[in-house]
Amino acid sequence: MNIHEYQGKEVLREFGVSVPAGRVAFSVEEAVEAAQGLGTNVCVVKAQIHAGGRGKAGGVKVAKSLDEVRTYAEEILGKTLVTHQTGPEGKEVKRLLIEEGCDIQKEYYIGLVLDRSTSRIVMMASEEGGTEIEEVAAETPEKIFREAIDPVVGLTGYQARRLAFAINIPPESLNKAVGFMMSLYQAFVEKDCSIAEINPLVTTGDGQVLALDAKLNFDENALYRHKDIVALRDLDEEDEKEIEASKHDLSYISLDGNIGCMVNGAGLAMATMDIIKHYGGDPANFLDVGGGATTEKVTEAFKIILADQNVKGILVNIFGGIMKCDVIAEGVIGASRQVGLEIPLVVRLEGTNVEQGKKLLEESGLNITSAASMADAAEKIVALVN
Ligand code: ADP
Ligand code: MG
Repeated sequence: MNIHEYQGKEVLREFGVSVPAGRVAFSVEEAVEAAQGLGTNVCVVKAQIHAGGRGKAGGVKVAKSLDEVRTYAEEILGKTLVTHQTGPEGKEVKRLLIEEGCDIQKEYYIGLVLDRSTSRIVMMASEEGGTEIEEVAAETPEKIFREAIDPVVGLTGYQARRLAFAINIPPESLNKAVGFMMSLYQAFVEKDCSIAEINPLVTTGDGQVLALDAKLNFDENALYRHKDIVALRDLDEEDEKEIEASKHDLSYISLDGNIGCMVNGAGLAMATMDIIKHYGGDPANFLDVGGGATTEKVTEAFKIILADQNVKGILVNIFGGIMKCDVIAEGVIGASRQVGLEIPLVVRLEGTNVEQGKKLLEESGLNITSAASMADAAEKIVALVN
């Protein structure tokens, strides 16, 4: 789960990570009041959307007076920002962060992620702050330094110092940078983050070390123990179909293609997407209905897939293990009738009671194409949508 920058900074502040003073604003008036409340000569008006790259897209403006705050707030609020992370459709700005302006000396990068290959949290740091880290990784990978963190010991002082030295933090700010890293790690672990990215971390003219940007993502499997984080969810920023799917306990991710997929099991869902691609098609979604998919779940899944205007055909690929194929077939037939399916549907069933399942599909009188194998199913649906 993703949250806004201003929320991320509040979470970090609780852990002693230093961030500039700032306030959220939902209207132009609130923005001006917030700037007045900050009482600084310079403040920064920052668009709050769940995407980075706002600076380059005109979503971060430095204001030197309250009049400028008003002008920028009017300009940015309600605007659709298109950044390299929003996709071409962009995202509408509904909130602003009004933040004290910082006298930046230098910008750095600090990130924490889980490295699955070593099963450790890794802290990454670079002197190339402010720019996209993906770019640094591609062009000058030697400028990114990493420390793998032992889960029992946690981030140690010497690891943090080694990183701070490696990225040339000035000696007078070294201890503050080390403290910053330790607190950031603490926040990451205690709040079950999946990503914490501070880009840029800055040193200022008066020797401070501050997070000027904050991107925090949280592990959804751990949200049950962080009610405070769940409360920060902004549904405006999420895909409607994904919100609906999460209500029904379906794992659903929207994609750009035109073949809707309904599959049980994440591995089979991935394989299904691969084979659709192999036959020249494009999946419209990833959807795992789970092991114990009921008729109701299958129906909801169908509705969500069909809510996507791009979907021109559906591929159902189910392996009946715990679930029996005849039960699944009944679910598919019931759902097709209920939602009045008008686009091609290819069904591939395998496993327990597969013969009964196929028979039910054939006798249903619905326009359902049965497939003998995964490859057959993918080939058929690709042909039908083209
Ligand atoms: P994004 O990564 O979405 O572009 P950032 O929060 O990183 O947004 O802001 C972009 C740039 O704007 C930063 O790299 C920094 O140079 C500048 N900036 C952001 N916040 C402040 C601030 N409070 N004071 C001064 N400059 C800022
Ligand atoms: Mg940034």
